[in-house]
Amino acid sequence: MQIKHLDHIKALVLDMDGVLWREREPIGNLPVIFKSFSKAGLQVVLATNNGTRTPAQYVEKLAEYGVKIRPEQVITSSLGAAYLLQKRFPMGGHVFVIGEMGVETAMKDAGFAISEKDAVAVVAGMDRSISFGKLKTGCLCIRAGAAFYGTNPDRTFPTPEGLIPGAGSILAALEACTDVKPIIAGKPNSTLFEFAEQRLGIAADEMLVVGDRLDTDILGGYRAGCKTALVLTGISSFEDATRFEVKPDLIVPALENLLDD
Ligand SMILES: [Mg+2]
Repeated sequence: MQIKHLDHIKALVLDMDGVLWREREPIGNLPVIFKSFSKAGLQVVLATNNGTRTPAQYVEKLAEYGVKIRPEQVITSSLGAAYLLQKRFPMGGHVFVIGEMGVETAMKDAGFAISEKDAVAVVAGMDRSISFGKLKTGCLCIRAGAAFYGTNPDRTFPTPEGLIPGAGSILAALEACTDVKPIIAGKPNSTLFEFAEQRLGIAADEMLVVGDRLDTDILGGYRAGCKTALVLTGISSFEDATRFEVKPDLIVPALENLLDD
């Protein structure tokens, strides 16, 4: 049940954590795997719900594993949020950000200025230096009519110490003080895949979304109209897949098995 049965596929949209690496350990020989994809004529895009880093930082991280990619190949949930904001506010404007470098850079690159003054939107995500002051300003902006966007819904974030608060926990705090639900860019919503589709200039069903989580990667890819492949190197197991509402088009032990005969 491998990729040759999906021979109209032109691009792979890969999740990173649990697909390319676990903690700091690469999963398989990444340079060889990426070479096999380019040999097969497949474009590769990396799509992550983690919005704290910039594409340039992922380019560096991949380089440490011996894989050369271009920043345009990386789509984070912060870029997804910027993509949604650009569609809604084509003239730009001020946005108030609760988040790290990944969000700020994405907003500036999309033509928005970072300021709470007359903010058209509040964009929130994982922020490891969150303060009462930031929550208060975000709350007041939203209450004054600013649109409320979130990078990704993940309530927790895995670390060697255990699960710590993720973007979703910060969104929950803002929701609690405003009674407004955020518009979320990350998976399982389809925004990241629509953005990939636009960047690559191909149709949704020509993209194979590869991920380790059924409830984000596979569901999101399915909602966007893409083909989907589950790898068993991360969160979801084969048994989970048999019970899940959406069946992946492929299930493979690891990314290196994707092109196997
Ligand atoms: Mg993952």
